[in-house]
Amino acid sequence: MTDSLDKYRKRRDFKKTPEPAAEVGGGGGNIFVVQKHQASRLHYDLRLEVAGVLKSWAVPKGPSLNPGDKRLAVRTEDHPIGYASFEGRIPKGEYGAGKVIVWDRGTFKKLGEGDVSDALDEGHLSIALKGEKLMGEFSLVHMKGRGEKNWLLMKKADEYADREKDLLESNPESILSGKKVEEV
Ligand code: MN
Repeated sequence: MTDSLDKYRKRRDFKKTPEPAAEVGGGGGNIFVVQKHQASRLHYDLRLEVAGVLKSWAVPKGPSLNPGDKRLAVRTEDHPIGYASFEGRIPKGEYGAGKVIVWDRGTFKKLGEGDVSDALDEGHLSIALKGEKLMGEFSLVHMKGRGEKNWLLMKKADEYADREKDLLESNPESILSGKKVEEV
């Protein structure tokens, strides 16, 4: 079987990791999720449901509400829709070993003309998020000439923008279990 979850599948031993199996499809259409992942380095994984999978970026510093911040977002392999509910421990020795919580989740809406896949191919996607923590408009922009995988995640200036508040600090816990990542 070859599909956009091939990399996801190959990197994991599903006898050892509690992460969900690599099945395409099954989502409702427009989920976004941000997972806090305490791996060898702490980061936040932003995932957007597109065409039956979760398109994914690892954001080392996490999302910011400050439109002045440009957060590096490194494109990673597509994940199955079921991953949007995954919290737990990935065992030592497995890919991404460490602890994961669902830091935020909700729905997103693409802004402007065209569909999400085309916008990703073009390297510029604007979305409005409706989560429990993150709200409002963000853009994801591919950094041309800086390697295939490097994008920037930026808050747009709207009513939800905030130059002072750091949600990562003020609201560190899982929206599913209430746990902090270190408590998983
Ligand atoms: Mn990760």
